[in-house]
Order: sequence, then C-alpha cells, then structure tokens
Amino acid sequence: MMRITILGTGSSQGVPIIGCQCPVCTSTDPKDKRLRPSAIIEKDDTVVLIDASPDLRTQLINYYNKRHIDAVLITHEHRDHVAGLDDLRPIIFTQQKPMDIYAMDRTLDALKCLFFYSFQEDLYPGAPQFSLHKIGLDAFDIGSLHIIPIKVMHYQMEIRGFRIDNFAYITDAKYIPPGEMEKLQGLDVLVINALRRKIHYSHFNLDEALETIQRLRPGKAYLTHMGHYLGRHQDLLRELPDNVEPAYDGLVIEL
Ligand SMILES: [Zn+2]
Ligand SMILES: [Zn+2]
Ligand SMILES: [Zn+2]
Repeated sequence: MMRITILGTGSSQGVPIIGCQCPVCTSTDPKDKRLRPSAIIEKDDTVVLIDASPDLRTQLINYYNKRHIDAVLITHEHRDHVAGLDDLRPIIFTQQKPMDIYAMDRTLDALKCLFFYSFQEDLYPGAPQFSLHKIGLDAFDIGSLHIIPIKVMHYQMEIRGFRIDNFAYITDAKYIPPGEMEKLQGLDVLVINALRRKIHYSHFNLDEALETIQRLRPGKAYLTHMGHYLGRHQDLLRELPDNVEPAYDGLVIEL
C-alpha cells in the first residue's frame, strides 16, 4: 500500500497572503489555509519527500512527525519548492548520513548556490549534508518506490513531475508534451496544479488543469498549488466534476 500525505497546497505566497483581506485569505475554514506545496510518499519502509517548501518544519510537525525520510525529489528550484531543505536537519542528524536529493542538473546547481554552506570543503558544524543525484527522464528506484520522471514545461523552463506506481504528482505545469502525457495514462490518482481562474503565463489555470485531467482520465484527481483567487475549498468542491477535488493541507491518500 502506498500512502500519500499532502503537506501543502498553496501557491508561492501561500494562503492567506500577508495583508490580504479577500474572502479566501480571511476564511476560518482550516482547508482554506494553504501552506506551500510539498508531499510525503510512504510505501513499505520507504519514505520520500516531494519538494521542500518554505513551510516544511511546520508541515512535518503537523502531518509527519517522524525522523525518517529516505530521499527528496525536487520538481524545480523555485524557492517555494526548495527553501525548506535546511529544515531536514533533525532527520539528517538522526539518520547520520547525508540526505539524498534527486533533481535535474540545473536544479542541483541552484541548490549548491542556495545552500552554499552545505557544499564547502570545511563544513561548518551543524550544516545539513546533502548527497545530490542527477535525474534525466530515465526511471529509477528508491527503496520500494519506482519513480518515473515526467518532463513538464513551466513557462519556458523544463521541470520535473513524478509518476510513482499509479500515482503522479505534477506541479507548476503550464504544458505537458504529448510523449509525457502518454506516461501519465492509467493513473489511480493524479495531483496537479491549478493556480487561479484567469490564464497565467507559467501555471495551469483551473480550465487547463481540468482539461488535462479530462484527457488523462485518472481515477481521481486533486488540485494543488492553489492561489487565493481560486476560491474557498467548499465552493470549489461543489463546482468541480465528481472525480476532482481540491487537495488540502494534511490530506492523506491511500492506494
Ligand atoms: Zn511553485
Ligand atoms: Zn487573498
Ligand atoms: Zn515554480
């Protein structure tokens, strides 16, 4: 059995956005509080984190309060997806080995700049240690998880989505090339980004996300990377097709 815990479902600024008085940002429904996007995948004894959001410490304490993560898959180097890597220190210290990070070459280079203190020759005591693994489009295994990287376009930037068994996680997509769409056939569960209702240059809006879901026909789809303009969770839930739901922070999916 695979267990997916959605740690965050917000866009880069999170929801609520600092100082915003809109109905979503001022909602009292806990499902309208969207931390930045990350997810934990567990199968047998293998635990993998997808992206390390700036809210990672809070998210792990709330939804996965354990010191066991085998590896981190990174979709791309934008800060809302990597800024929390430093928060993995309690886990790195407990496991007594560098954390394995899987990402595209360009993303790994960016991490070496962002977390420069972890890649210096004379490591400062207490700095988190990372072991970097370059991924292309070839499948690879981490413990009992078989991971198929998916090439996704985020405006003109090539990034990665991931298929693991019959589950796939796609975020920050604006376009998925036809050959990659093929790799997303026959899914039980798809998590996919939907930023807002109006068209956006680098992220699917709601219509584009729904159109992609309709073409892929997964058993169930969950929306993530949602901005405040997308609306309240309860309103969205009512208007979406039967097999589509907005994800929310702390959502657990078992398959
Ligand atoms: Zn993002
Ligand atoms: Zn707002
Ligand atoms: Zn991005």
